[in-house]
Amino acid sequence: MSVFTHEAMHDHQMLVFIQDKAVGLKAIIALHNTRLGPALGGCRMYPYASETEALADVLRLSEGMTYKAALAGLPLGGGKAVILADPRKDKSPQLWRAFGDAVQNLQGLYITAEDSGTCVQDLHQVAQVCDYVVGIQQKPCIGGGWRSGDPSPSTAYGVYVGIQASVAFRLQRQDLRGLRIGIQGLGQVGMALAHLLHAQGARLYVQDIDADKQTKCAQVFGAQVLTEEDFWHADLDVIAPCALGGVLTQARAASIKAKVIAGAANNQLEDMRVADALKRRGILYAPDYVINAGGLIDVAYESQGQYQAAQVQAHIEQIGERLHGIYQQAQHQGRSTADIAQETALHCLSHAQAARHTQAMASASA
Ligand code: NAD
Repeated sequence: MSVFTHEAMHDHQMLVFIQDKAVGLKAIIALHNTRLGPALGGCRMYPYASETEALADVLRLSEGMTYKAALAGLPLGGGKAVILADPRKDKSPQLWRAFGDAVQNLQGLYITAEDSGTCVQDLHQVAQVCDYVVGIQQKPCIGGGWRSGDPSPSTAYGVYVGIQASVAFRLQRQDLRGLRIGIQGLGQVGMALAHLLHAQGARLYVQDIDADKQTKCAQVFGAQVLTEEDFWHADLDVIAPCALGGVLTQARAASIKAKVIAGAANNQLEDMRVADALKRRGILYAPDYVINAGGLIDVAYESQGQYQAAQVQAHIEQIGERLHGIYQQAQHQGRSTADIAQETALHCLSHAQAARHTQAMASASA
């Protein structure tokens, strides 16, 4: 397995490989960029088919976190952890402690959180030995009451705001009533998104490998259940991928009927050429690390110890304006939205680096 020459190894600053055979822990932590602040990103547990697959995943995910934080205007860098294990049978208190020790050893360079295959209870165990864990504090809700530290409701809210902005731009519609919206993946984010869209009168079409979740969505929200094959060919207005990465392939880009793709999943594009293919067909793609930043914004406020629900909501709502700006620029320049988002994120990073350099020079000469 190549590391430094890996195709997804770009400007990554640090990789940490962790092994504790006694507790069955094999993990990789990737720090892509810490120019704006400590690298914050979730810990994914997944039974990867190979170590190469795990490495590719953590490299791509950590890079996406850098862009996500930069575009959300947060003083954070990009990082991610993957644990090569099956979340259904490999979790143990000892494993979480060993993982927590590894994160603690990085002394705040990396802050961990929940991701696919991990949950708030797991993070509480990590937090027993580690100070750098977020997504575990109970949070106030707008309008009263409390919820768990899980950032998924905030991610879903950001995606909902992003769908509204995308529909306004591409379909010239200010409301979602009667729009046919497909959601793939009815997990923590997808189900909360279904709730928000249903409340606005959208007609839902759903697909998940978990039949119980599909049934629940049909019963509660009147959603129509589709097979995976039908989902990507259905006559929909909006597609919200909320399950897996890599779902937007060249083949699908050539046949999708929806005019908007706006969902929570990380790394939706198989590669950047798919973004061009979508553009050529007039399909508006909401760059994933822009639209799914709600959860990161949520835990960023938590990590700063300043969680106020109204302030967090207002910050998440900026996702709509940010997407609108990217769409306008892409239209004017005849480029893909993914291209513009990446360029803007890189601009934010080099701006931050220049500011830091100027500050260092000023304090050296003082
Ligand atoms: P989750 O694990 O709770 O839900 C994922 C859902 O997708 C599950 O219901 C699962 O059954 C379904 N699924 C898995 N494989 C599928 C397939 N082949 N076809 C259809 N459905 C399938 O995850 P989540 O927290 O809801 O996150 C969803 C996506 O959003 C992930 O890609 C995640 O990385 C991304 N994301 C989540 C957050 C967050 O705050 N939770 C933040 C940013 C990005």
